[in-house]
Amino acid sequence: MIGVFVIRTPGPEATERVGRALAQEVQPGDCIELHGDLGAGKTCLVRGLAEGLGCDGSQVSSPTFTLMHRHQGSLADLVHIDAYRLHGPEELRDAGYDPADPRAVTAVEWPARAVGALPDRAIRVFITPVADTEREIRVEVAGGTLAERLAGGLAPRPCPSCKTPVGPFAELWPFCCPRCRSADLGRWLGGQYQISRPLEERDLDEG
Ligand SMILES: [Zn+2]
Repeated sequence: MIGVFVIRTPGPEATERVGRALAQEVQPGDCIELHGDLGAGKTCLVRGLAEGLGCDGSQVSSPTFTLMHRHQGSLADLVHIDAYRLHGPEELRDAGYDPADPRAVTAVEWPARAVGALPDRAIRVFITPVADTEREIRVEVAGGTLAERLAGGLAPRPCPSCKTPVGPFAELWPFCCPRCRSADLGRWLGGQYQISRPLEERDLDEG
């Protein structure tokens, strides 16, 4: 079974939130390949992933000068690899990379250059620029349980107002946009929702 999830993010903050959502579903031992050109937002996603694993996300940078960096996290460690300047799989092993590390989630930038060193069953993330800051993020996973976990955690659900699918990382979750959020509030005010007690002012403040 291969699960494919396609997510659109309006900007870097939302891309980070996808990383954070992904962190909720991965487990130590998982490897995440990050495919995408320079400036696509790979490091951004890794930062969110780091925060989701309980690491200090501010320490995550594009690891241009180091092949591999390990971040200590409260849920799992994050091993961040930049394979851009890798000359062969043995170089990664020499740097201390262990594909079977039971304590770490691994995120690999430029994974095509590390073929032969990474596990076969990686989670593949493809980040493609759509417009200025907008990105399409495609997540591919092979393997039943992981695909199911991700399907549960990442799959979009319909916006309560317009039924457009909205991912759990969306800023206005569960709504797709401010207009839908106020439309929903309008329905509350118009009495189209059944409520079990009289509406109070604080009910409306939460919108
Ligand atoms: Zn909507």
